[in-house]
This record gives sequence, structure tokens and C-alpha cells, in this order.
Amino acid sequence: MFFDSSKSGRMRVSTHRRWLLVVLLAAAVGCGEGGRPAREAGGGGSRPRVVATTTVVADLVRQVGGDRVSVECLMAPGIDPHSYRPTPRDADRLAAADLVVASGLHLEGKLATLLERLGGSRPVAVVGDSLPTGELLAVGGGMFDPHVWFDAKLWSRCPPIVAEALAAVDPPGAADYRARAEAYVARLVAVDERTRQRIAEIPEPQRVLVTAHDAFRYFGRAYGIEVVGVQGTSTESEAGLADINRLVDLVVTRGVPSVFVETSVSDRNVAALREGAAARGHDLRLGGTLYSDSLGAEGSGADTLEAAMEANVRTIVAGLKGEP
Ligand SMILES: [Zn+2]
Repeated sequence: MFFDSSKSGRMRVSTHRRWLLVVLLAAAVGCGEGGRPAREAGGGGSRPRVVATTTVVADLVRQVGGDRVSVECLMAPGIDPHSYRPTPRDADRLAAADLVVASGLHLEGKLATLLERLGGSRPVAVVGDSLPTGELLAVGGGMFDPHVWFDAKLWSRCPPIVAEALAAVDPPGAADYRARAEAYVARLVAVDERTRQRIAEIPEPQRVLVTAHDAFRYFGRAYGIEVVGVQGTSTESEAGLADINRLVDLVVTRGVPSVFVETSVSDRNVAALREGAAARGHDLRLGGTLYSDSLGAEGSGADTLEAAMEANVRTIVAGLKGEP
């Protein structure tokens, strides 16, 4: 749950350790490092100021915190967290936060050092790192796939984690946070069920989701769809010619009608894949754009995880059924 600088290469927190860390967090807040919990001043009273790293995590905190908390997000919608470099202003915002919430599992690769340094002075909750490792997808080297939010059932373990982290910095709000978390868990379970039913509408041979980078492996595992990323699990690695050729083979032989691009990733590789398929006489259509590592902007209709899931599922089902 919390960033452990001594093990940044392999972050795992067992359940008993999680509770210990919640206690430590409460103690750290009580100590008031620097002498001031950085509460938001002004009209709204003193709402805890939470800084989230990604739009997905910011949404999680808003769902659990409601009006009791003020949530700032470091990354704007459409930003790729794998390659995001923190600015000096980010460091200031993090240092002034009552609570920092990160996604973890190395998603925010270039923020790691900053979060590690911060761990000693501000409470930092890393939701992905507190999930049971038995439910995570390994990617080798003791690391895990960080894209856990598109398995709504798995993500439904995160609201209680955030509720406890918020309760530690704002004890009078504890009951409220827990109640909101419980309600959000129920909504995520409903999203999970709906998604499974929708994906089942796609004819089985066509249940192959080819996307720009490997952000949908949990989605695939949860909802019974084979998932292939043109790039690896991180956008930091480049797809090679051999990868593209292997994928061209796959889409041609399986008759996959569509491939998808992502809002936060360059579509260069997807274009190469479509060209390769065209050269072999297979018209691989662009099935649309998926939200992967970032939610949509406010007003996009996909600015919450629930809405982005819904939008993705609509796009995937239409694209793989070969609908126009
Ligand atoms: Zn990603």
C-alpha cells in the first residue's frame, strides 16, 4: 500500500502489513511533519487535500472521498503515465498534500523516485501495491502488470484501501468514507457483471482485442477475451518488426475485423499493423479509440472509470462484431 523505498523493485504488501501501515500512516499524520497538515483553506472549511497521480486513481479518490476531500491530479487526461516526467510544480503539490494516492506496480515509472522521497514525510497510499499478488499478472523479474483497473472486480478491492487511507488523515470522516467505499464497490461489481455479459455477445473466434500497448490483460482475463498489445506492458518499450509481423499473422488467420487505438498512446504501431494486414489482403479496420491508462477529460462522457469502461465496452463489442 505504501511506497517502500527499500524494495522499489518489488513492491508487495501483505494484509497484516497493510494494517500496520495504516497505523503508521495515522501516526505520521499525528506527528504533523513540518508542523502543518496542509489543509485547504477557505470557504469549504478544511478538507483534506489529496494529490493523485493518474486520472484513474483521482477518480477512485473522488468516488470514495466525495465532497469531504479536495482531489488534485498530477497527470492531465490523455497523458501516458509510463513516460510521465514530474515537474517542479508536481513536487510542490506532492509535498503540500495531506495524502498522496498513486496507482503503483511501476505504472508511474518516472515518479517513483519522487514518491519514494516523499514517503518519509507525507502519507502515500499506493493502491495497486496493496492488491494480493496472487491476483496480479506477473510480467517477469518479480514485477506485475500495473493495469488493474479494467478488471472491475479486482479494482473493487481498492475503494476500501482508499477509505482507510482517508480515514487516517481525516478520522471524523471515517464512517462516511467507508460507506461511500462500500457503495462504490457495489457499483464496480455491477460494472463487472455487465461487462462480462456484453463481451459474451462477440462471436467467440473474434474475441481478440489488439491494442496499441498491453493495457488490457486484466480486462481479457476477467471477461474472456484474448488480448494482444502491439507494444509491451509499458509504452516505454518499442515494438519491433518481428512483433508486427507476428500480429499480422494473427489478425489475418483469425479474421479479426478491427484493431483499436488508445487515447494515451501513439497509434504509430497500430498503423504499421494495419498496413501489414492490407498487404496480405485483409482489411483490418480501426475499431475506435479506447481509454487505457487515462480517463477522458471532463465532459467527454468518460471522465470516470465506470463511464470509460462503458465507452470501451461499447467500442470493443461494435468493433469485434464487425459493426460499422
Ligand atoms: Zn499502460
